[in-house]
Amino acid sequence: MALSLLARHNPLASAEQQLHLLANSTACPPFEQRMAAASLHPLHATGITVFQINVGKLCNQTCRHCHVDAGPDRQEIMSRDTAELCLDKLAQTDIPTVDITGGAPELNPNFRWLVERARALGRHIMDRCNLSVLLLPSQADLAEFLAQHRVEIVASLPYFQSSQTDAQRGEGVFDKSIQALQLLNRLGYGSEGSGLTLNLVHNPVGAFLPPKQEAVEAQFRRELQRRHGIVFNHLYTITNMPISRFLEFLIESGNYDGYMERLANAFNPTAAAGVMCRYTLSVGWDGTLYDCDFNQMLELPIDHGAPRHIRDFDPAKLHTRRIVTGNHCYGCTAGSGSSCGGTTA
Ligand code: SF4
Repeated sequence: MALSLLARHNPLASAEQQLHLLANSTACPPFEQRMAAASLHPLHATGITVFQINVGKLCNQTCRHCHVDAGPDRQEIMSRDTAELCLDKLAQTDIPTVDITGGAPELNPNFRWLVERARALGRHIMDRCNLSVLLLPSQADLAEFLAQHRVEIVASLPYFQSSQTDAQRGEGVFDKSIQALQLLNRLGYGSEGSGLTLNLVHNPVGAFLPPKQEAVEAQFRRELQRRHGIVFNHLYTITNMPISRFLEFLIESGNYDGYMERLANAFNPTAAAGVMCRYTLSVGWDGTLYDCDFNQMLELPIDHGAPRHIRDFDPAKLHTRRIVTGNHCYGCTAGSGSSCGGTTA
């Protein structure tokens, strides 16, 4: 299996190195300049409706496009103490949705405890699932657990054919993904009226923007049903962010400048006004607070006077905080935008 950037000692494992490349791109104007022209700079949060917890970088896959640089070789994992802190702070709020991500979040030993506790608080839970994790022998009862706790599943599936999916996610991942989707369907996931939501996420396999979401959703719905009898609720298209392993791919394939230019040329003020950081709070595995999971991976914590750690959680300051932006943000504002916030998006 492929190794993470960190395990390969690749310079791009450094957030500082990535930020340097992004800030010095000559293919696009500074993001803040473009936002100012759209009267969106400085960008502020409009509240918090999604409490996103990244429980660590451990994953059973090493996908080529991963913005987390996750993989089996990553050790960073949220402790029970930090997870407890998250729930204590969450309990003080009426934030309706808890979005659990990773890595493969289910591999964190505290994942099920976190789900049970957040459900007991009456919150809607989303699990960012890579699908293949459901087939691991150690996770034999995971799908049933998720169904029992009415967890919404947001699952990555780059394409409905194996070649494109395996090229991005690893040899054999497509077949496992199909088996996992069929397992979820058998439990009721994806069926109207079951109350078990199964959403898919499609991202392009190369250095281009995703096509229109409605068209891709219709195509996936038709082809997955026809080929494998699979049903799902919604499909989101997301743009690959020019960071981490996708940045490595862009540079190695000679596509970096062209991709940044493409993103900037597709800047959409409506998408920019609706970016997910405006309604999301992102907690890192060590409790550090971020505006989004992308800023988290670039080690850009919350700034401008708002608290930076979950222990100092202060809803009043965080609800209207100023958001930390950079040229990577063009990935969120291109075309129709890029969000897969589940039922809240
Ligand atoms: S990358 Fe993060 S901070 Fe930037 S626009 Fe997207 S969600 Fe907001």
